[in-house]
Amino acid sequence: MASEGLWPVPGEAPTTEDLSRCVHCGLCLSSCPTYLVTGLEVESPRGRIHFAKLIDEGRSGLTPAIARHWDLCLQCRACEAVCPSGVAYGRIQEHARAQLSGAAGGRVERRLRRLMLRNVIARPRVLATAMAPARWYSGSRVRGAVRRVRVLGLMGRLGAGERQLPARVGKPFRPGGLLAQPVEARERALLFSGCVMGELFGEVHRATGRVLARAGVAVEAPGGQECCGALHAHDGDLEFARKLARRNIAAFEGSDLPIVVNSAGCGAAMKEYGDLLSGDVKWAARATAFAARVKDPGEYLAEVGAGGPGRLTARVAYQDACHLAHAQGIREQPRELLRGIAGCELVETPGADVCCGAAGIYSLVQPEMSARLRSRKAEQFREARPDIVVTANPGCQMQYNAAVAEAGIDARVMHLMEVLDEAQAAAERDG
Ligand code: SF4
Ligand code: SF4
Repeated sequence: MASEGLWPVPGEAPTTEDLSRCVHCGLCLSSCPTYLVTGLEVESPRGRIHFAKLIDEGRSGLTPAIARHWDLCLQCRACEAVCPSGVAYGRIQEHARAQLSGAAGGRVERRLRRLMLRNVIARPRVLATAMAPARWYSGSRVRGAVRRVRVLGLMGRLGAGERQLPARVGKPFRPGGLLAQPVEARERALLFSGCVMGELFGEVHRATGRVLARAGVAVEAPGGQECCGALHAHDGDLEFARKLARRNIAAFEGSDLPIVVNSAGCGAAMKEYGDLLSGDVKWAARATAFAARVKDPGEYLAEVGAGGPGRLTARVAYQDACHLAHAQGIREQPRELLRGIAGCELVETPGADVCCGAAGIYSLVQPEMSARLRSRKAEQFREARPDIVVTANPGCQMQYNAAVAEAGIDARVMHLMEVLDEAQAAAERDG
C-alpha cells in the first residue's frame, strides 16, 4: 500500500512496503553507475530511496531537485541485483517516475517525451516512417562524407547519435509469419520483435531464426504484437505500459510456446507483466502465465542446446546488458555460448556489467551522464582491443558503436545471436 504522503499521483505511488525494505546499509553504492561517476549520495540508490521515503512520510514534497536526482537514475537495476534486503528498486523507480508528471520543473520536456513515446515509439507505422531517414543515411555516401570532414565532434547530441547508428541498417523485420523451419523440428518457439529492435535490428531477428533452426527449433513471429511498453513504464507512464502489455498477451495467447525476446530491455519488462498487471483482476493471471513463457535467446539455447559447433577466430568482449544481467539474472549462458565457439577468445573487461549509458532513451535525455559512462567503456575497449563487442540489447549495441568509434579501434559490435550465426555458418562452410 502507498501512504497518503505528499505524492502528486497517489494512485501510482511507490508502496510503503517496498520503500521500507531499504535498511540504508549502502551495499548498493559501489554498483551504481551514477554514484561511481559523481561520488554523491544523492545520486545513489540509497539517496534516491531516502527522498521517496521523505515524500511517503509527508516530510517533503516532490521538489525539482528530487526530480532531477530521480531523472539521472539509469534504471539499470544494478543496485537491485546486489541488495541483500531484496529492495525492488526497479518497481520503486517506475512508480517514482509516475509522480514526475505532476512535479514542478521540466513539465514541457516530460510532456513532449510522453507524446513521443506514445505516438511514435508505440505506433509501428509512424515509427517506420521516423526511422526511414536513419536507415537511408546509415549506409549512404553522405555518411562517409560527413565522417571524412570530421564535423561530428562539433555536432553535440546529433554527433553522438550519428556514431550510435549501425554501419548499415538492414531491412526491418515485420512480424506476422514463419521465421524458421528446420527440416525436422524438435521444438517450437515464438519470436517477439519489439519496436526499435524490429526497425533497426531486423538482421538480429533473422540471425536468431537461423540459429534456432540449426538447434531444431521452428520459429514463428505472430502478428498483432506491439511495443513491449518498457520505455513507457520506465518513464512512469504505467497506464499506457499496461495497455501495451494487454495487447501483447492477447497476441501470444493460444499456446504455451516459449516467447524468445532478443532485446534484454523488452524481455525484462515482459517477464514482469505479472507484476505490472497485478492490480487488474481480469488480466493478472494471464499476465503471469505470459511472463513465465518469456525467454532471452541465450537462456533458451542453454535449455534446448545450441545447434552445432561454431568457428570464429576473434577476441570477443561480452558486455552484459543491464536488463539481462541485473533484471533477468542471465550472465553465464551467453558467455558459455561464446566459449563454445572454436577460435573465440572471450576477453573480460572490467565493469562489463556496469551500464553503458544507453538505458532506453537516457542517452537522449541525459546526454552528459550517458557520455561519461560511454567514455568509461571506450577506455576499456582501447585497453582490451577486442575484435568484436557483443551484447544483447539494441540500445547497448548503438551505444557501443559510439564507444568503439570513440576508442578509435576497429571492432565490430554485434548481438550474441549474430555472432553465433556467423560462427555456425563458417563451421558449416568449412565442413
Ligand atoms: S537499496 Fe538495498 S543495498 Fe542499497 S542501501 Fe537500501 S538495503 Fe542497502
Ligand atoms: S538503477 Fe542503476 S543508476 Fe539507478 S540507482 Fe540503481 S544502480 Fe544507480
